[in-house]
Amino acid sequence: MIIILKDDALPAQIDEIKSALTARGLQIKGIQGESKHILGLVGDTSGLSEDALARYDYIERVTRISDPYKLSGRHFHPQDSVVDMGLGAKIGGGNFAVMAGPCSIESEEQILSVAKDVKRSGATALRGGAFKPRSSPYSFQGLGLDGLELLKIAREKTGLPIVTEIMSEEYLSVFARDVDVIQIGARNMQNFALLRAVGELGKTVLLKRGLSNTIEELLQAADYLLAAGKSRVILCERGIRTFETATRNTLDISAVPVLKKKSHLPVVVDPSHGTGVWDLVYPMALASVAAGADGLIIEVHNQPECALCDGQQSITPALFDKLMRRIEKVREAVRE
Ligand code: PEP
Ligand code: MN
Repeated sequence: MIIILKDDALPAQIDEIKSALTARGLQIKGIQGESKHILGLVGDTSGLSEDALARYDYIERVTRISDPYKLSGRHFHPQDSVVDMGLGAKIGGGNFAVMAGPCSIESEEQILSVAKDVKRSGATALRGGAFKPRSSPYSFQGLGLDGLELLKIAREKTGLPIVTEIMSEEYLSVFARDVDVIQIGARNMQNFALLRAVGELGKTVLLKRGLSNTIEELLQAADYLLAAGKSRVILCERGIRTFETATRNTLDISAVPVLKKKSHLPVVVDPSHGTGVWDLVYPMALASVAAGADGLIIEVHNQPECALCDGQQSITPALFDKLMRRIEKVREAVRE
């Protein structure tokens, strides 16, 4: 952190701030320019607030140099993390993973049919919501614990690890026991109590970017999950809210290389929620792969026109199969 003092800062004021900072265990390297006095702070400044320092009327500006996310950042962990997704599946460090399945688990026939289809096409994991974050309280809310049981049957029959969203702390122990990858949805990305509690479980977590959150905020949320030193995190770009109305969200594909640069964690893209339009899923999935994503999460439904949730953005198993073959070609081209 660097503190630039105002030109008219008095020697007594400079001494005051210096002793306040050394009392916090920081070392200070001072630079006296022609008119400016600059203080360079060495040590752990994570507990220092820029805003609080800016209240001193003789401080002109405070600039933080290190990133405000230490655990998810690359600084202390330069190599890519390889994350275990359960049942032998891995993502990151060259392991590519595709999570596919319906938005919501609707019935045993539906989840088994989609699970078998996506498995045959080469999916790595099965997604399916049991607890759904719906904007309207009158919309289908998911089958809850019954849905989770159906998802477990589908795992049993296909050998695919399961990815599903947790909405409240009430079900922490059930998710810890039954779920391979716990999803934190966009709407809960900054539910800090939930993040801390899930972080204590020692599970793999798929953390989705919030609807209006910056990349920095996403990485700070990942640090909440990693704080207990027990859990593993996969980051997910799923589109952000902009003025554009042609798509449900604006898929920020540039977030992929930005996140890869800043963080060692695997990055996946959700082109289903990212666009909200089924025939945009295929091109945007390929674009995500070309941009360097470590994986994808895609909504697939055996009868999208009858889906209880997000049918407009769900692709059929046939299109998913075509996409999977195309993804392989794009990955080869990117590797060349
Ligand atoms: C989902 O994956 O079904 C979902 C609700 O996603 P998001 O949290 O990104 O909206
Ligand atoms: Mn959905």
